[in-house]
Amino acid sequence: MSWRTETMLRDLDPDTEFEVSCRMCGKHRYEWAGDLVKLGRLGGFYIDQVQRDLRCFDRKCDGPVRICVMHDKLEEGFVAGMP
Ligand SMILES: [Zn+2]
Repeated sequence: MSWRTETMLRDLDPDTEFEVSCRMCGKHRYEWAGDLVKLGRLGGFYIDQVQRDLRCFDRKCDGPVRICVMHDKLEEGFVAGMP
């Protein structure tokens, strides 16, 4: 159990910043919770579902991604960068 499985995207502060990094090629980008919610389909997803839904932004790669929250308001003891 963790914030990833208990927190819906739309429950987060829209200013919550994620780092979305590709497990395949290592490219990463930053997304804000509010922007992802605005896309529509992801708002009711839990964070782990969002992580499974998002793919690498490099279409040639299309690898699975890992989501890290940049500022740690969510969970005590959450260590950025841990899988
Ligand atoms: Zn990639």
